[in-house]
Amino acid sequence: MGRIKNKQFAVIGLGRFGGSICKELHRMGHEVLAVDINEDKVNAHSSFATHSVVANATEENEMNSLGIRNFEYVIVAIGANIQASTLTTLLLKEMDIPNIWVKAQNYYHHKVLEKIGADRIIHPEKDMGIRIAQSLSDENVLDYIDLSEEYSIVELLATKKLHFKSILDLNVRAKYGCTILAIKHNGEINVSPAPEAVIHEQDCLVLMGHKRDIKRFENEGM
Ligand code: ATP
Repeated sequence: MGRIKNKQFAVIGLGRFGGSICKELHRMGHEVLAVDINEDKVNAHSSFATHSVVANATEENEMNSLGIRNFEYVIVAIGANIQASTLTTLLLKEMDIPNIWVKAQNYYHHKVLEKIGADRIIHPEKDMGIRIAQSLSDENVLDYIDLSEEYSIVELLATKKLHFKSILDLNVRAKYGCTILAIKHNGEINVSPAPEAVIHEQDCLVLMGHKRDIKRFENEGM
């Protein structure tokens, strides 16, 4: 998967959502500019960002003096104030920022952001709810990424039935049309495992395929 390296990120709005994005990007070694209208929020994030600045994102002059227009990725994490969020997104769009990701509060907010041209619209509570429901309903699924409506990558916990089986024994590609991308064993990851690679109970299998086929493997193969 394409890792974004040496890119400049700006996070506007340092609530729980924006704050965790800022901290995580910083932890990963990226350059992050943290912006909030509230000085306390900015101070609380000063050690988790490359620069942290008090500014009102809806004021074009203030944004210009921050040099926001040079950023490749800007995350708008202003939640409750929909007007401030949409106006900020509009200003960023006018600055030709290539990637504008915005947290949406509700359906109407989403529609407006879509029209303005936000590149990605995020509904954290809804998305997290879906993930939690998936984990609750299937305890073998540790995590997953949807590639499309039909295809996904899932992390499955290897059951007893798979203990000491090799990739060849399982033959998931021929039987289920799925690909084992990696095996995680005791914290070590084996990417593109060889056919002889052996699976142990409790290993984590990273599997890619059609959702229907992954489900079939879970039901019949594990
Ligand atoms: P979360 O759920 O992530 O904690 P939230 O949805 O409650 O956040 P808010 O608290 O409304 O969202 O906003 C997040 C942050 O955005 C706050 O820290 C707030 O000070 C900041 N913010 C609001 N308006 C502006 C603005 N015009 N410019 C910059 N920052 C702003």
